[in-house]
Amino acid sequence: MIIAPFFYIFSLILLPPSKNNTNVPKVIVQPTIAPEPPVTKDTKFIYLTFDDGPLIGTSNCIDICLNQKIQATFFEVGLHQAGGPKAKALYNRILQNPDLFVITNHSYTHANGKYKDFYHHPDAAFLDFEKAQHSLNITNNIIRLPGNSAWNTTVLKKSSGLVKPVVQRLDSAGYNVMGWDVEWGFNKQGKPLESAEKLAQMIDSTFAHNHTMTKSHLVVLMHDHMFRTSVDSAKLATMIGLLKKNPNYQLRKITQYPGLKNGGR
Ligand SMILES: [Zn+2]
Repeated sequence: MIIAPFFYIFSLILLPPSKNNTNVPKVIVQPTIAPEPPVTKDTKFIYLTFDDGPLIGTSNCIDICLNQKIQATFFEVGLHQAGGPKAKALYNRILQNPDLFVITNHSYTHANGKYKDFYHHPDAAFLDFEKAQHSLNITNNIIRLPGNSAWNTTVLKKSSGLVKPVVQRLDSAGYNVMGWDVEWGFNKQGKPLESAEKLAQMIDSTFAHNHTMTKSHLVVLMHDHMFRTSVDSAKLATMIGLLKKNPNYQLRKITQYPGLKNGGR
């Protein structure tokens, strides 16, 4: 969940050269989304969220979700998007697919990895989110705190003493704060800790035990950089394939989560 800032810088340096000439206008092919099946009493909603991009790995996340025609949410970091043309191109690819993807606010600096210091200065932290909101051109009011799973919507209220002052400021300014129910963790090398099968089991089990913040709605936290190699991104594709096999599961964007202030806008 928490990554040292050097990892970001390292990752940005490692962003591979773009294969496309950015001066040539691209033809954007919009994926067709299959109509969603009707909602029944057994329907369960899953919100896949990718944090900390744009980074190396973001491209694979986009490709896999496009190929599988599934909806997903990208909680982006302003500083990473401002990191250069390759980062901006990734950001633009997400924006170009609004039927499937939404970009949400994950701060400008990601606290520079110094979480306690960041949350001990709630006015500065609030301004950091505002800066990200503008620099990322975000059109919704959904925020995720760096390194912290706090929740604040019209119905959900959950925050530790450390982050409560900034959550209160965000609340007053009309923002929702979204945490997560299940995390696909990563090791020191930034590779997925659990197998695709294990992650799908964790999701099934969390629903079965009613351990989600909102009944029948489950938010999954992942990080873009976990899927930067072909071996690890294949795990993401496998995990999504397993979820799609369950006819009761519907994958949605976080803007569709129930109880958001002002409907998430
Ligand atoms: Zn993060």
